[in-house]
Order: sequence, then structure tokens, then C-alpha cells
Amino acid sequence: MDITLTQAQQDLRALAAELADREFRSRASRWDENEEYPEENLAILAKQGFTGITVPEEYGGLGLGDLEAALVLEELGAVCLSTAVLCQLHLNGPPRAIANFGNDEQRERFLPRVAAGECLIGIGMTEPDAGSDAMSMRARIRRDGDAWKLEAYKNMITAGHKAQAFFVVTRFPEAGERAMGAVMVDADAPGVSVSKVHKKMGLRGVPEAEVAFDDVLVPSADVLMEGDAEGRAMRTILSQFNHERLGNSAMCVGVAAGALRESIRYAQERIVGGKRIIDLQGIGWKLAEMSTKVEAARLMVWRAASKADAAGHDQPTPALEIAQAKWYANVVAQEVANEAIQIHGGYGYTREFPVERMFRDVRGLAIGAGTIEIQKNLIARLLDRGSK
Ligand SMILES: Cc1cc2nc3c(=O)[nH]c(=O)nc-3n(C[C@H](O)[C@H](O)[C@H](O)COP(=O)(O)OP(=O)(O)OC[C@H]3O[C@@H](n4cnc5c(N)ncnc54)[C@H](O)[C@@H]3O)c2cc1C
Repeated sequence: MDITLTQAQQDLRALAAELADREFRSRASRWDENEEYPEENLAILAKQGFTGITVPEEYGGLGLGDLEAALVLEELGAVCLSTAVLCQLHLNGPPRAIANFGNDEQRERFLPRVAAGECLIGIGMTEPDAGSDAMSMRARIRRDGDAWKLEAYKNMITAGHKAQAFFVVTRFPEAGERAMGAVMVDADAPGVSVSKVHKKMGLRGVPEAEVAFDDVLVPSADVLMEGDAEGRAMRTILSQFNHERLGNSAMCVGVAAGALRESIRYAQERIVGGKRIIDLQGIGWKLAEMSTKVEAARLMVWRAASKADAAGHDQPTPALEIAQAKWYANVVAQEVANEAIQIHGGYGYTREFPVERMFRDVRGLAIGAGTIEIQKNLIARLLDRGSK
């Protein structure tokens, strides 16, 4: 499979790297230390057009695909994962579902604001008792005259306390007990309230929130995918989450690549017993293994993204390649960030060097967007069905 980057893709990648270095590097620790939402960085992303990379051109975006999104997210993730996650929500979150499966009115209402960085849409999937097992979800929506009424309590919505709108996955019990679909809800709609913002180990600039949807009126125009007894809507929703998984994998490659870069620099400068530590075979081998793993994970992400783009954005995403890329990139990022701390010795454990933040930040990506265990379950199921 040919995954040579075009000149335009190389330019976009270089632009993202330059932007991350110029604007985001020096402030990356601030969001973490202060648990501060990187609002300023979101404005910079929007000004550069990065919030609209995957939004179709007719709605003010660049109309690019999964590979371009992955290239940008890797470069941002290498420097400031909190900022990358905000970008990811615009590139690979609910706007994808709206662009691919929303009607004209829904696209018109949301996508230009997404591209402009003025509408962050929180993902309302997980519930306190339904994470990996989405089918245990309790959220329910019922017809109420011409509209609908939603009753839901969602957990772990990334940036839910700052979102302008929510993409809420819910049961449609009137269509069947297992019917599930998705609706859009404005954050300021009566009955919507943020009940808790979680304090976290890492990614402390962009926390997850618990959000209650208490008897919320949902106009029919805001039903994005109506649940059906055959489960078509839910399959489509799950397929759309594959874009998010790809972006998650790309950010993991970014963190790993960033931690590797920091480690090479440190190992070249640190003198122990009169020698640079990079000249010690034990350290050199660590760097060799780290760089090989980063390269392998990156190729898997590019392969899956290229395949998704080649299929077309309204087509099912390549589930096997994406699950493999996510599992591998999640694991590699943790291993590489961990080794980076080891190479930095005692300093690696202090908050004076970025590698400890990278280690904490990236940990959550092995849980969000479907845990590594769930990816492996999916891979095994697809192999059983004959996928290669
Ligand atoms: C940083 C971060 C961001 C997130 N952002 C969002 C968001 O924006 N919107 C949203 O809706 N959710 C979000 N989530 C929630 C995330 O999707 C869930 O945490 C995840 O799906 C796991 O669900 P759970 O926490 O309920 O764990 P559980 O489902 O209770 O799982 C607990 C453990 O059991 C394992 N397990 C469960 N079932 C199986 C199985 N069948 N086989 C093997 N192992 C299994 C899991 O892998 C895990 O290790 C986010 C989470 C994190 C950490």
C-alpha cells in the first residue's frame, strides 16, 4: 500500500509542527499545572484554520480527510496533548457524523461554527454504568408532540463544561428496546446542567464532565440519527467513532515521538562518568527500540487513515486497521513515555522536564475512545469473521 505523503500533506504537517513549536510548546505545562482550559490555544487553532480541516469546504472548512487530521494531531500531540485533544474534537468528533449523516439544515447550523472554532460539541456516549458496554445505556428519548423529550445522565464528556452543544447517544425505546440513535442538544437548553468536572491524573487542561439532560426538549430537527430496531443507526454511530479512534492513535504517536525527541536531546547532553549517556549501549538501545516502535505505530495510523480516506467519508471505516492502530499506538505511547522518564533519570520524575507530563497525559488515551481491551476484542471478532 502506497502511503507516500503528497507535497500538500507534507506542507500541512510542517505547518502544524511549526505552529505547535511557536505557539504551544512554551505554555504546555501551564494548562497542566493550573488545570486551566487552553482557550487561547483553541483561538489560535481556529485562526489558523485547523478547527476546520475535516469540515467540508461548502461549510467553511478545508474538506480534508483522516490522514491530514492524523498528521496535524500527531504534531500537536508531540508538544501539547491538551491542545491536540481540543483540535481532535473538531476534526474527528461529532462534526464528522453531522457532515456525513446530518441533513442540510443540521450541517448549515453546526459546521460553519465548528470550522470557526465557535462550536465545540461534546460527545455524550458514556454513562456512569455504561462505558465499554454501550448497550447498557439508560438514556432515553420519547416523542412529545412534534418534538422529543430526552432523559439522560452522561459521564466523561471531554470539555463538557465548555461545550456549546452535545452529541448525545440515546435509546429510542418506542422503536424497540435495543433501538439507539443520536441527537444534538444545545448546552444552554433548559434541563442541561454540568454536575461535575473530574479532577484527573493527566490532560489536566481539558477535563471530562458529567452532564445531566433532565427532561430536555429536543426539536425533531435536532435528531441526527433516529434509533431503529435493526440497529442501523447505532452501527453508523459506532463506525463514526472510528474517526475519533484514528485521531486518538495519531495523538499517541505524537506523544511518543515528542518523548523520543526529548530523550535523544537529553541523552546527547547528559554526561555521566565522562561520557554522554547516548554513548552508553543500554541507553542507545532504549532509543533504538523507542524510535522503531514510534515508526511502526505511525505507519499503522497512516495506513488505516489512508484506507479510510480511500473508502470515502460516508462509507464504513476500516474497523480492523483502526482498532489495530489504536491498540498499538496506545501501548507504544505508554512504553515510550515511560522509557523517556527513565532516560532522564531523577530529572525525568520532576515537573521541570516535559516527559513526566507526557507520561501522565497519554495514559488516558488508552481508555478514551474505547479501551485497549475493547480494541483487542474487536480485532479478535473481525479475525474470526475472516478479516485479514
Ligand atoms: C481521557 C478520556 C476521555 C474520554 N472522553 C469521553 C467523551 O468525550 N465522551 C464519552 O462519552 N466518553 C468519554 N470517555 C469515556 C470512555 O469512553 C470510557 O471510560 C471507556 O469506554 C471505558 O468505559 P468505563 O470507564 O465505564 O470502563 P468499564 O467499561 O467499566 O471497563 C473497566 C475495565 O474493564 C475492561 N473491560 C470492559 N469490558 C470488557 C470486555 N468485554 N473484555 C475485556 N475487558 C473489558 C475495560 O477495558 C476496562 O479496563 C473518556 C475517557 C477518558 C479516560
